Parts: sequence; C-alpha cells; structure tokens
Amino acid sequence: MKTFDYSKPNNLSNALKEAPTSDKLDVPNFRFIAGGTTLVDLMKLNVEAPSTLMDITGLPLDKIETTKQGGLKIGALVRNSDLANHPYVKTHYAALSEAILAGASTQLRNRATTGGNLLQRTRCSYFRDPAYACNKREPGSGCPAIEGEHRNLAIMGTSEHCVASNPSDMNVALMALDAKIEIESKSGNRVVAITEFYKEPGETPHIETVMQPGEIITYVHIDPLPAGTISQYLKLRDRASYEFALASAAVFVQMNGNRISFLRVAMGGIGTKPWRAGEVEKALEGKNADTGAFAAAAEKLLSNAKPLRDNKFKVELAKRCLIHSLNTATSQA
Ligand SMILES: Cc1cc2nc3c(=O)[nH]c(=O)nc-3n(C[C@H](O)[C@H](O)[C@H](O)COP(=O)(O)OP(=O)(O)OC[C@H]3O[C@@H](n4cnc5c(N)ncnc54)[C@H](O)[C@@H]3O)c2cc1C
Repeated sequence: MKTFDYSKPNNLSNALKEAPTSDKLDVPNFRFIAGGTTLVDLMKLNVEAPSTLMDITGLPLDKIETTKQGGLKIGALVRNSDLANHPYVKTHYAALSEAILAGASTQLRNRATTGGNLLQRTRCSYFRDPAYACNKREPGSGCPAIEGEHRNLAIMGTSEHCVASNPSDMNVALMALDAKIEIESKSGNRVVAITEFYKEPGETPHIETVMQPGEIITYVHIDPLPAGTISQYLKLRDRASYEFALASAAVFVQMNGNRISFLRVAMGGIGTKPWRAGEVEKALEGKNADTGAFAAAAEKLLSNAKPLRDNKFKVELAKRCLIHSLNTATSQA
C-alpha cells in the first residue's frame, strides 16, 4: 500500500472546504473514506492508490430520522447494522433490512456505512487484480472477463467493454424503493433519484455513477409506502452466508384481495447496476396474483439478458428467483 495524507474534518463545511473542486482535482488521488471496507481492500490490492484520504466518519451524518410523511431520512454514515436493525426499517421496509443482513458479515456490517455501500465496487476478479487488463480500472486496456472468468458477472446492462456485476444487496432494495440520494459539494446541494444514480458501462465502464469529484453523499431519502405493503428480499448464492448474490430480488407489494394494487421490484446479482424491473411492475400491477403471469413477466424481463459462456445459468436462476419472490410476497400480503 502507498503512503497517503490523511485528514478527518468534524463538520460538513470544513470537509467541503478541504475537498478538492472538480476543476483543479487530480481525480485519482483524492478519496473520501467512511467504513473503509471497500476502499482499504482496494488500496491493499493496489487497485486504488490515493495520495489523500479524507475520513468523513467525524461528520454528523449518522442518524436515521422518520419524516412527517412517514418516510425515512438516512444519514450517509449510518452503519449498515444500525440501518438493518432499526425498528422502523424492520417494520415498514422489511426487504431493506433483509437485504442488508444478507450481505457481508456482522463485523463488516458494523463498520460499513450507507454512503459507502452505495459506492461499493464490483467483485470482478480482473478489476481487483492489477496484473490484468480492465477497462473499468484502466480505460481502453480491455476486458479479459468476456472470454475468461465470468460465472458470477452480469447478464443485464453489459457492453463489449465491461461485464462486471454490481455486487450490492442494500442497493437492490433501495432501487425498488425509489430512494433519493442527497449529495453536497462546494457548488451546492443536489438530489438524484437512485434510478438515475448508476450508469451502465457502455463505452465508459470506469464511470459507474453520476458522482462528481469532491461530492459527498449526505443522506438517502425513502418515501412512505402504501399502507399494508409487504416486502421481502431473496438472495440466491453459492453458499448460505458471506457470499455475493448470483441472483436476488427485492419485492414490495400491496394487495387488494388477490389483486396487486402496488408493486415495486428490483434484482441484484444479474446487472451491471442494481436492476429495477419496471417492466415486471407494469405487467403485473392491477392484475391478479398468478404464477403464470409472474412467469411471463420474468420471461420478458430476462429476454433482454446477454449471458456469456459460463453464466447462462443465471437467466433461469433469475427467473426462478423472481417468480418465487412474487409468489411468496403476494401470498403474505
Ligand atoms: C469480504 C466482504 C464481503 C462482502 N459481502 C457483501 C455482500 O454480500 N453484499 C453486499 O452488498 N456487500 C458486501 N460487501 C461490501 C460492503 O457492503 C461494502 O464494502 C460496504 O458497504 C462499503 O461501505 P464503507 O463505508 O466501508 O465504504 P468505504 O470503503 O469507506 O468507501 C467505499 C467508496 O465510497 C466512497 N464513499 C464512502 N462514503 C462516501 C460518501 N458519504 N460520499 C462520497 N463518497 C463516499 C469512498 O470514497 C469509496 O470510494 C462485502 C465486503 C467485503 C469486504
């Protein structure tokens, strides 16, 4: 690991004052650090080599607040464990709690933060090993994953330049919840819908989100759900714990008798970003809960998949994951 400068401001205005502005920023050399569970690993692997680290864990962004309308305002420094175990989250947004608890380990969740989780990087083995080319790490160098090891990589949203999957669980639930991400910088404040936050790789796989240099995520906002909404997160993986998803689904559903009156769905493990299944929602909202209809919606969603030699199995796995989740959630609601 290379040596680096370190600072730890204790309020947001000092942090923003110290953070470089995009116009004079040597981008690769400045990084915020929160829990460090992604960044420190990447520094040890020489994938990231910042010369300046700003530790933001001293900022007062560690609260979970309920809003007047019944939604949530989550500070970017709220630890994953605290968010997952918050009584209001467990009651009103069960799938968010379940998604977080399905990820990593207790120790990691105690350390990892909401903002850091949003920005966690892919587990593609070529990205994580500087001995190999990787368009995400070094634009233009190539993507050995396409011909090489890609069993756990993406089948949706890929390009000829990158097939890396987004590994997150929490962000799948946040995607289904239409979360909004509040971002602060020297030039002001902006709020970005999570559906607009992540970028597909296209020709620029190194650009993963809309975040600009020097910007700090401050809060995540979640709207209230319709009364009686039931939710669940299902994660399918090679072993039952401490493993990333091969396919996962977050489902939020409100039923009126056997009719689906409200439905929000996102999938993990299969996409280059947490994958919102808008076409599934459109196909099923207002219809009766029915396994045949779920299967048809899953078939349509996965007809857009572009699997590679060793991850074709994910197409069927993702369909089954989605159908099972929809069956379980609608039968409980
Ligand atoms: C062994 C292992 C297993 C894991 N398994 C899973 C899993 O199964 N499922 C899953 O979803 N995740 C898993 N993770 C990932 C884990 O959830 C993330 O590492 C963690 O959430 C990142 O949070 P952090 O606060 O530690 O981020 P950091 O490492 O501190 O930061 C990550 C990135 O975000 C930036 N950043 C952090 N906070 C902010 C902010 N507020 N504003 C702007 N930039 C910011 C940093 O500059 C850095 O680039 C695993 C991690 C490990 C190490």
